Amino acid sequence: MFQTTIAGSLPKPTWLAEPEKLWAPWKSEGADLVQAKQDAAFLWMKQQEELGIDTVTDGEQFRSHFVHGFLEGIEGIDWQTKTKMGIRDNRYQVDVPTVTAPVRRARSVHAAEVRFSIAHTDHRLKFTLPGPMTICDTIANGHYETRADMAMAFAEVLNQEAKDLVALGVDVIQFDEPAFNVFMDDVNEWGIAALERAAQGLDCKTAVHICYGYGIEANIQWKNTLGDEWRQYEQIFPAINASSINQVSLECANSHVPMSVLSLLPDKELMVGVIDVANNVVETPDDVLRVIEEAMIYADADRILPCTNCGMAPLNRTLAEGKLAALGRGAALARSRHG
Ligand code: ZN
Repeated sequence: MFQTTIAGSLPKPTWLAEPEKLWAPWKSEGADLVQAKQDAAFLWMKQQEELGIDTVTDGEQFRSHFVHGFLEGIEGIDWQTKTKMGIRDNRYQVDVPTVTAPVRRARSVHAAEVRFSIAHTDHRLKFTLPGPMTICDTIANGHYETRADMAMAFAEVLNQEAKDLVALGVDVIQFDEPAFNVFMDDVNEWGIAALERAAQGLDCKTAVHICYGYGIEANIQWKNTLGDEWRQYEQIFPAINASSINQVSLECANSHVPMSVLSLLPDKELMVGVIDVANNVVETPDDVLRVIEEAMIYADADRILPCTNCGMAPLNRTLAEGKLAALGRGAALARSRHG
């Protein structure tokens, strides 16, 4: 009961990349960089194990960004043709690469990383991939007729990749879809269909992570415009509940999301965000317990998986370690009270 996991990412150690920064360049290259990434992933898997995280990740130590880490291994993308795009509905202006030909995968993008992780943890392993809609919101379309067509093409490529990783022994494949909270009409029109295509036929648990983003300035400003109660989830959860995805990750800790939205997902396992990633305070086990108990009003305990609100990549490393420990201890406290 109350099996813990994290949204996915963890900070890069100083020897791998500049800390507390998204898109930070690597500090080494070639074989040294491969070794440094493996060392960092090893360290974070051991820390998660020690701190009571049941389903661990590689902390996304092998990629510099959660979307481009996958796209770098995909053909059909012109990285030189940069298009200025206001992504997540103009929340950030970014120069993004452009799709100029059919997207295809010549070989597995992440197999070597997953082989390494499987060999170095005896815990359940989750691997995170960007969801098709979020990919399409992070890259320009210079080839497909519609964004929905491009999403479906990426979904097929994601599905091939996910199948390879499951064959290596991954226990959970999670698709990250922060764009689901921004384009709610598109989610219902084609976003969930693309997500289900990506997850089709996977012989493991499948999950979707839908958040309000990292705790960075652009997101904090955006959140200030959303009002006192954030009800985006209400518009998409009914269709997600009807989908084939097994687990849904949502943010709950210190959030303006009303916990009652959990009642819209009666058939899913719930990765309840009990750790805020947008502040510099380490939660106490009691703080974590309180969020779990609030979730228990709307969902049976056996469907609740305590988790972080979002990735911790931009955080200070010591802070992230503290938050992992709080997650583990808080879940243990909940088990002792309610187990
Ligand atoms: Zn997130």
